[in-house]
Amino acid sequence: MRGLRASIVARLGLIVMTVLCAVALVSNVLIQRQFENYVSRQQSERVEELAQNLASQYDAEKGTWNVDYIHGMGMYALDEGYILRLSDADGRVLWDAENHDMTLCSQVMHGISERMESQRPGLQGDFVTRRFPLTNGGTAVGYLDVSYFSPYALNESGFQFLSSLNRILAGVGVVSLAAAVAMGALTAGRIVRPIEKTVEATRRIARGEYDAVVEGENRILELRELSGAVDDMAQALKRQEELRRRLTSDVAHELRTPLCNVSSYLEMMMIGAWEPTQERLEGCYKELERLSGLVSDLERLRQAENAELNLTDVALKALSEEAAASFIGQLKKKNLAWHIDGEEVHVRGDAGRLRQILTNLISNAVKYTPQGGEIAVTVRRADGEAEVEVADTGIGISREDQEKIFERFYRTDASRSRATGGAGIGLTIARSLAQAHGGTLKVRSEPGKGSAFVLRVPVE
Ligand code: ADP
Repeated sequence: MRGLRASIVARLGLIVMTVLCAVALVSNVLIQRQFENYVSRQQSERVEELAQNLASQYDAEKGTWNVDYIHGMGMYALDEGYILRLSDADGRVLWDAENHDMTLCSQVMHGISERMESQRPGLQGDFVTRRFPLTNGGTAVGYLDVSYFSPYALNESGFQFLSSLNRILAGVGVVSLAAAVAMGALTAGRIVRPIEKTVEATRRIARGEYDAVVEGENRILELRELSGAVDDMAQALKRQEELRRRLTSDVAHELRTPLCNVSSYLEMMMIGAWEPTQERLEGCYKELERLSGLVSDLERLRQAENAELNLTDVALKALSEEAAASFIGQLKKKNLAWHIDGEEVHVRGDAGRLRQILTNLISNAVKYTPQGGEIAVTVRRADGEAEVEVADTGIGISREDQEKIFERFYRTDASRSRATGGAGIGLTIARSLAQAHGGTLKVRSEPGKGSAFVLRVPVE
């Protein structure tokens, strides 16, 4: 297994190497070919130039040749790798490099052949002889035979030029590779460091340090999202952990009172301190009922949290009317005015579960609204969602309690003092069910004036 850093550096290095090799190969071949063509052209031009120069050495008036000049030029050309033989118009040889200095000629030819053979083994070049007719003032004055290495011959400095070109290309390659590795390491560092920090933070979160945050700003969008998601996860886990702790202590607390009461009643009756009267037995029975109510609340909560919905078309206004109908007795008893307004809105949802939410909201409204108050249910469409609002003119909920009432077992002090029953679990269930429908359950309230619970579910 290889780290991300090493992978990035290796891959970047490989890419640069491949590109460089391709560029070096192509440019090397192209430059070399161009250079060789150039040298070959130069060679032809030089030979033509020699022929012209030599032709100009004929004195037409006297019919003689400037032999000294021809000798000087022949020796100079020999030095450059051209072996000359000059003949007059009658075919008589006037000057011949090979005749003049046979040893030097073969030394020059041998030197060139050997150099080309060793540097360009595949070239298969050889000395060729070309004949040029010489003219002076329009009349033919003789011939020049030139032998030279074809297709081209490079001298030492030519080969040096080509090899230094290769060295420059290699140098550029090494520098670019080093730059690519350095840049790769830098880029990898930018990516790897935040990932390492995120891993470190995740480990701390796993150990229960939920306040561990991924430190440092990140300029890479995806990595910033990753660290943001880890931070969010830590907060969610923290909330879950707190809820779990609270649930345990709340359940213990809720169980303790009825259990203590029942056991002390029974103890008193067992030791004979109390007569087991009808009233006392009923007291025990009530406490036990509270206990089993609590247990079934917990069971309902568990079911709501793992709710599997049976989706059908649900008419929300009709459903609200149905839910309110079961409270008619209580509404009358408390002399509460009530009405259901708005339009009919259809959603895809679980009718039973949605009725459970509405029943809970209406039941709370009835419970927490004093005699003579008013309860209004309104059904409407809002931003592609269906909305049911259950508003009352009851005791209201303080701002700080407004989020807490959706937590398990949370009851406001105002409602506790009223002995209105309930374990503080109804709204937790209602919100879970709303969320299972992809919806929300929120509250607006003003203490002393009333509350409005708003259920929203997507229409489709
Ligand atoms: P409970 O069984 O206690 O009614 P809920 O989860 O339904 O449990 O409600 C939690 C708490 O929220 C209640 O105990 C009460 O303090 C507060 N509450 C709920 N509905 C209302 C309302 N309509 N008006 C005032 N307070 C409310």
